[in-house]
Amino acid sequence: MTSVIGYARTMFHGGRFTPPDLPTFADHVNRFHETLEALRADFGDESLTARITDQQFLQGPLSDAMTHAGQLAMLRRLVGSPVPSENFIFADVRRENVSAAQPEPAAPDEWWRADDAPRPPGASKSASDDRVADRAQTPGVSRSIVGFHTDDVGDWVADLECGHSQHVRHNPPWQNRPWVVTPEGRAHYLGTELRCVVCLESGTDRPQR
Ligand SMILES: [Zn+2]
Repeated sequence: MTSVIGYARTMFHGGRFTPPDLPTFADHVNRFHETLEALRADFGDESLTARITDQQFLQGPLSDAMTHAGQLAMLRRLVGSPVPSENFIFADVRRENVSAAQPEPAAPDEWWRADDAPRPPGASKSASDDRVADRAQTPGVSRSIVGFHTDDVGDWVADLECGHSQHVRHNPPWQNRPWVVTPEGRAHYLGTELRCVVCLESGTDRPQR
């Protein structure tokens, strides 16, 4: 994806785009967004003239990049860490923000919850059947989130109303809770219920306030 976006930039600047390999996945993600930001700036720079038309940008490198985004979405779904549900007609898409920090879905499917991604496809007939089955089968007692803290290694932990706690890690692409790393995101999830297994095992059925 970085290569096709960087290639698109050569339609403004000439030359070749041959990015070197980078040590980590996070480095690649950062470079992708930097390259996308640079292309966005190129489009807004009136001193530059592209040697292809806007339609060619769309039918070529931009469609190419979106195809790869679809491939990533498919792989994420298969591995059990799907991208957030969204109706992109209503998504909060802003041309000034091409960073990795994107808003939560504006119009997700009704069953979708940011803090509890659906399982990979399996025996159930539909994704919503999966959701209902998962909810019924997830062990534990429903407890509201009353706060957050980080553990010794910096992973986020939700403080529950019962006094117990539960990890809410953001470790993409395996565990995806981008909301947990921002103060605004955490504030949004205060009051959301998680299933407390400790309460279940201790036989507690009421919050200990
Ligand atoms: Zn508990």
